[in-house]
Amino acid sequence: MQRSIDNIIECYNCGLFIKKNNDQIHTQRCPRCNSKIKIEKKQTNDSLYYSISALLLFGILNIYPIISLNINDEELKATLLGTVSILLEQNFFFVSLVVFFTIVLAPVLNSLVIIFAFIQDKTKIRFFTDTLLHDSFHFFKHWGFIEVFVISIIVTYIKLVGMVSSTKFDIGFYIMLAYIFCFYMSNIKFEGKSVFEE
Ligand SMILES: [Zn+2]
Repeated sequence: MQRSIDNIIECYNCGLFIKKNNDQIHTQRCPRCNSKIKIEKKQTNDSLYYSISALLLFGILNIYPIISLNINDEELKATLLGTVSILLEQNFFFVSLVVFFTIVLAPVLNSLVIIFAFIQDKTKIRFFTDTLLHDSFHFFKHWGFIEVFVISIIVTYIKLVGMVSSTKFDIGFYIMLAYIFCFYMSNIKFEGKSVFEE
């Protein structure tokens, strides 16, 4: 009995119950209203691998400078955390807090939530409740602004290169691009529905 229920899917458009087609290549259509039938994707481990890579890249990213420039034979280098601490030193306490949260804390916690969701899904270990993980996943996803930071770096670069021609993107910048790729992929590949069993 249970098995036959698993094979039935409801059309979101007209509410018709249809037998699920196991053909993965073609999208199934509702015979009554001809709308596409959404089939929940199976969770693969891709998201887990991407978030682990993202965390590793984030660690490496903090070692290398993002932008470097030469003024009177003196090398100036700016790292990610260095930027935050400069803001702190300049007494922009609130700004540095927001920057730290949106470009460091929220993306890192987002990746950690995905990893914990996988651990809890695959094992019997329970660190957090599913509801907490689910809510924090959406919260940190909402408050991560690492892409805004990249745009601001590019703008800074364009402004600086006009003043100091030796300005260049350093290794950290390229690591950051790779990091953002992994970060995004981990979020795209993450099927919260099957993990949190919504
Ligand atoms: Zn329909």
